[in-house]
Amino acid sequence: MLYDSSHHPREKYHSRVFDEQEGYRYTYVVRDGLFIETGAYLHWLNGKIVDVAFDLSCMSGCAYKCKFCSSSRYNNGVSPPMKSVEQVESTVLNLGYSQESFLSECGKFTFSFEGMGEPSIPDVSENIMKAIGAIRKRYSSESTKEIQFILSTIGAYPSVIRSWADEGLPLETLQLSLHAVSNLNRRRLVGATCQNVKEFLKRCRTSTRSAQEH
Ligand code: SF4
Repeated sequence: MLYDSSHHPREKYHSRVFDEQEGYRYTYVVRDGLFIETGAYLHWLNGKIVDVAFDLSCMSGCAYKCKFCSSSRYNNGVSPPMKSVEQVESTVLNLGYSQESFLSECGKFTFSFEGMGEPSIPDVSENIMKAIGAIRKRYSSESTKEIQFILSTIGAYPSVIRSWADEGLPLETLQLSLHAVSNLNRRRLVGATCQNVKEFLKRCRTSTRSAQEH
């Protein structure tokens, strides 16, 4: 059920990728007054339509509780990402009221997952994989739209990240966020799981699901 929506004014988007975007945010009530948020960003490059980027949040929080991150304060368990298809369908419907021609001309949907915690935690990964599978099934089968995904991780479970590659996950981007420039600061912000890029890549190559990763 749509609870609220807001519209960000159209503005130039200063990045190396897009030169214009228009953003919308929707809030959906899922149960007992608890809500989830969805962002939708329309992108143009050189005057041509590129994609709609969906930020899918299930507001389920994150067990890592990094000190600066609002996900650590969410209400754990508000909604599993299995509602993702519903979220996308509702958002496409709502966008269609003002952006029908954009949606019909647009050849690509890009999805990222927000507010549901570190995605390499095995339980979270499992939910995200199910959501990705459901979204692919829903949108790949009936349209010619290209579907791609973005994940951001602190690399907590390298073996899980390796499994994403092994399974051929259609990722446009995999963002590795180490949160700080030194081990000392990372440990202060994130805790004992902090690592540098070299350690992370080594653990991706050598870790197994059964091994103790932490
Ligand atoms: S791991 Fe990521 S999502 Fe979780 S609290 Fe830290 S910054 Fe937030």
